[in-house]
Amino acid sequence: MENCVFCKIIAGEMPAKFVYQDDLIVAFPDIKPSAPVHILIVPKKHTESLKTTSEEDQVLLGKMLLIAGKIAKDLGISESGFKVVINNGPDAGQLVKHLHFHLLGGWAKNEGRVTI
Ligand code: 5GP
Ligand code: ZN
Repeated sequence: MENCVFCKIIAGEMPAKFVYQDDLIVAFPDIKPSAPVHILIVPKKHTESLKTTSEEDQVLLGKMLLIAGKIAKDLGISESGFKVVINNGPDAGQLVKHLHFHLLGGWAKNEGRVTI
C-alpha cells in the first residue's frame, strides 16, 4: 500500500535488518526500541490491524505468534521472559497502520513486569 512505511520496508524501498523472513512474514528491530530487545513482526500482506483481519487470516495470525516464540528463542530472551503486544487503533497508540506484533524483552530481572 502506498505511503505505508512497513510496505516500503517489505518491498526493500526502506532499510531494515530482517531477523526473520518467510513467504508470509518479516521481522526487524524497531527503529525506536522500547525495550533492550524490541522486534516488529509484520505480515507481508497489508492489513491495518486486528480490526481488518478475518477468518482467512487465521493461519497467518497463528504463524505470527509461533514466529514470535521462535525469534524470542533465537535472540536469547525465551527463558528470561518476553511480551507480545499488538496496538490496534488510535486509543491504543497505533502509529503505523499495518498490522504488527511488538516482541519485547531483554530487561534486567523483573524490570519488564507490569500489572494489567
Ligand atoms: P505502533 O505504535 O503503530 O504499534 O508501533 C509502530 C512502531 O514502528 C513504533 O514502535 C516505531 O518506532 C516503529 N517504526 C516506525 N517507523 C519505522 C521504521 O521506519 N523502521 C523501523 N524499524 N521501525 C519503525
Ligand atoms: Zn502496509
